[in-house]
Amino acid sequence: MGSIFFSSDPQQALRMQRHLAAMGALLVFTLICILFYSNDLFIIDRLTFSYILIIFWAGALLITIIFRLRLNEKFSDPSLTVLQIVWGTTFLLTITYSLNESRGLTLMAYFGMLSFGFFKLRFREFFSVAMFAILGYILIILYLFINEPDRIDIKFELLQLLAFVSTITVMLFTGSAIHRLRERASKQRDELQAALELNRTLATTDELTGLYNRRYFMKKLAEQKALSERDDSDFVIVYCDLDHFKSINDKFGHHTGDIVLKKFSEILQSSIREIDYAARFGGEEFICLLVHTDMENSKTVTDRIRKSLEEYNFSDIAPSLQATVSIGIAHFKEFHTIQETMMSADHRMYAAKKSGRNKVVYTDEEADTETTD
Ligand code: GH3
Ligand code: MG
Ligand code: MG
Repeated sequence: MGSIFFSSDPQQALRMQRHLAAMGALLVFTLICILFYSNDLFIIDRLTFSYILIIFWAGALLITIIFRLRLNEKFSDPSLTVLQIVWGTTFLLTITYSLNESRGLTLMAYFGMLSFGFFKLRFREFFSVAMFAILGYILIILYLFINEPDRIDIKFELLQLLAFVSTITVMLFTGSAIHRLRERASKQRDELQAALELNRTLATTDELTGLYNRRYFMKKLAEQKALSERDDSDFVIVYCDLDHFKSINDKFGHHTGDIVLKKFSEILQSSIREIDYAARFGGEEFICLLVHTDMENSKTVTDRIRKSLEEYNFSDIAPSLQATVSIGIAHFKEFHTIQETMMSADHRMYAAKKSGRNKVVYTDEEADTETTD
């Protein structure tokens, strides 16, 4: 049933909800009018009374259809608050004119209706709809005073009008204060949302390179260990350390060093699969987790990474700039703990350094011969 009226878009659903609340109020008002009519408080005949009800209900239902077909989204205020209030006010003014001296009772209904715009409208909009209601009421009184003076006690009407205008003026100022408060709260909520989003990003990513940070990587590694133990799969840890990075900084400046770090991050990211993880472990050290991968495949990937950096042409940044990386890799199934697998990859990376850098080392035999040389 709800889906007939309410859109899946929460904002549109809220607009429809408000409109239906207004329709509920209109229904109550209509029933009161019928009660008044049956107590002879109207000066119009039954047919005119019926026409008035039919015309205003048709207009209100047309607005329901506009909401249902989502045509309201084409307007600058998709809630159609002003349109609904103006239509309601016109209905009230017609009823006001058609009542006998008890017409002052309709003033209560004006407050009820204006309260729909109380939280929603800006000062100027609220002022306009309030003025429409006040001027309309004054015009009716004037018309009656000039053309049908026996239907009106002008002194009493004016006092009533004064009370009405004063109350609306108070409503106008408190309403606009509430509107400003709501706008400020909504702005603060948006800012908070953006800060939260940034916080979330910073909690998982490295600011300079956009790769994952160490903390997030360690979390993913622990998850992968649990997964691998369950489905008996293997994963590989790749430890990378840029070669002589200190002298790149010294020779070309820290800014150029940062560019090399970013470039290497891009190479890493484009060399691994979507399901793998690459992180900046700190400084010029990087680490990758290659899931469901054996050593043979890891070697192909890491050779490609090493070669891509070696062959990368940095000449547009600095003519003689060249960068290389030393890499150590180890697979989980060989060691069975994260700590030992990581230590081994680190140990092998150092072996690659010792053997002259710009190298990938993936066995301990290789590492031992490199380190004992
Ligand atoms: P090796 O080949 O033995 O790894 O030598 P290396 O110079 O790369 O190693 P070392 O650990 O001596 O120096 C690492 C350098 O990385 C020192 C530090 O200034 C630099 N570094 C760390 N973080 C950053 C960074 O964010 N940006 C830049 N430009 N440099 C950084
Ligand atoms: Mg280092
Ligand atoms: Mg280094």
